[in-house]
Amino acid sequence: MPDVIVIGGGVAGLLAARQLAHLGNAVVVVEERDALGGFVARSTVAGVDLDSGAESFATRKGTVASLVTELGLGADIVAPNPAGAWVQWDGGAAPLPAAGVLGIPGVPLADDVRRIIGWGGALRAYLDRLMPLVRVRAETDLGDIVRRRMGRLVLERLVTPVVAGVHSADPSVVDVHTVAPGLTQAMTTQGSLSGAVMALREMAPAGSQVQGIAGGMHRLIEALEADCRYYGVEFRTGARVTAVSRRDKLRPGSAERLDAEISGARGQWIVEVEPVAGSVTGPDAAENFDARAVVVATGFRPALELLAQAGVEPGALAGEWPAPASVTVATLVIDDARLDARPRGTGVLVAPGTPGVTAKALTHSSAKWAWLGDSLPAGRHVVRLSYGRRGPDASAAAGRSAGAASGAEEALVPDLATVVRDASALLGIPLSEADVAGFATTAWADSLAFATVGHKARARQVLAAVDDVDGLDVVGAWASGTGLAATVEQTRLTASGLAAELRGAPRLRPE
Ligand SMILES: Cc1cc2nc3c(=O)[nH]c(=O)nc-3n(C[C@H](O)[C@H](O)[C@H](O)COP(=O)(O)OP(=O)(O)OC[C@H]3O[C@@H](n4cnc5c(N)ncnc54)[C@H](O)[C@@H]3O)c2cc1C
Repeated sequence: MPDVIVIGGGVAGLLAARQLAHLGNAVVVVEERDALGGFVARSTVAGVDLDSGAESFATRKGTVASLVTELGLGADIVAPNPAGAWVQWDGGAAPLPAAGVLGIPGVPLADDVRRIIGWGGALRAYLDRLMPLVRVRAETDLGDIVRRRMGRLVLERLVTPVVAGVHSADPSVVDVHTVAPGLTQAMTTQGSLSGAVMALREMAPAGSQVQGIAGGMHRLIEALEADCRYYGVEFRTGARVTAVSRRDKLRPGSAERLDAEISGARGQWIVEVEPVAGSVTGPDAAENFDARAVVVATGFRPALELLAQAGVEPGALAGEWPAPASVTVATLVIDDARLDARPRGTGVLVAPGTPGVTAKALTHSSAKWAWLGDSLPAGRHVVRLSYGRRGPDASAAAGRSAGAASGAEEALVPDLATVVRDASALLGIPLSEADVAGFATTAWADSLAFATVGHKARARQVLAAVDDVDGLDVVGAWASGTGLAATVEQTRLTASGLAAELRGAPRLRPE
């Protein structure tokens, strides 16, 4: 009997499994896809191994870097090209201003700000310095704060493209406390939004805010899996957990209860696993596990269902959860030596309403990551574009749409012609389909915009209710806040708490 069943083999599930196995527990990870890693994934395009999901991590607190180092990849941690990205709007393109937070300029009259919003926009933004800040309301709407203090042009041309690119959401729905912790507090001490931006920048350590791994972030998954296997973790891929139940909650005399009794089950959890139709690695038959504890490490939608089955108080799960968002990553490997000049630095963020462009962002990956650029033949480049959810930013001309997995909203999947057209418009160089050496798209369904207003409170409510159920835990980006840094931090704390509980030791709960 395994001690713990981990449901979901993304970063959170793998890390929880690793930590529990290190502490002597027998662990089985169940993952419905054929590949482990979830949103951290490898895709091989024109013979080059690339990330088709996450490609970097926030350096905050050194959380991810220390995990990467523990796994023996510390020497391969790299910083991106400091050249930075550009922004493109209806009328031009220019490098993002140097002194900013989420696109909010710290120096509204600086040359690099005026280049994007003109004198009119810059003077309006400068009003922020002159307008008295009577009080900071207990507000959460980043878009509203920016518009009121600095005006429409700052919002539309600077902040919206950055927030859409980083958080897949519009500034009007993101929670300022989640995406820019400390910003509103700094406004009260500095008396203005731009002053608060400068104060936050001074507090942040010098250097890049993100790092990557030479060879790609997917190496993290390979290293986690190898370490898990070394410590005896078992995997079931191509297998979906369809039901989780507590033995003591099974009706006396029911078939499930009798099954459990006949099989001599000792654990308090019964986890039902079924092969996923069409999977390559899936088991031949359904399998039931008996376990002492269950860790739910899936995305939020399956997690809510599994937690309900596991007996979590239904009221805690009932919040107003937003519709699932989808994002598609399109990768081009292209031979065009004009790109050697890195015409748009590390990439381009797109302001809404930019004509002729469907993508919401472009990363010139081989310019951003030296390890990648150096590995390619002369004149070859890797460009990655992301496409938002079907909605106002997705024009009908963009291509076919593919039904995304798990019944979530359909992802917009652009065709090659659309991607080449977008890349040409964003890089300022007419590219040709004839020069494309490789093309791939990956549609990510259910990649919820975790930074939205109210999300933190809903997730906290769920976690508090999960605390009331012995031997049950939740890890993952939807519970911790999006991104690898937050996911790794929350998973480590949760897994060590569960390991203590399984040893019979008192469990310390983080605040
Ligand atoms: C395109 C994209 C780019 C990103 N870029 C970055 C970045 O550069 N930096 C950064 O920090 N973050 C980035 N992120 C976010 C980051 O990747 C995620 O926050 C993180 O990987 C989430 O990990 P997770 O383990 O919580 O969830 P997931 O990766 O979603 O893993 C959950 C797993 O559970 C499995 N599962 C679901 N239901 C079941 C079931 N019933 N039975 C079995 N298995 C199940 C799923 O198949 C999945 O593999 C990006 C996300 C996307 C989509």
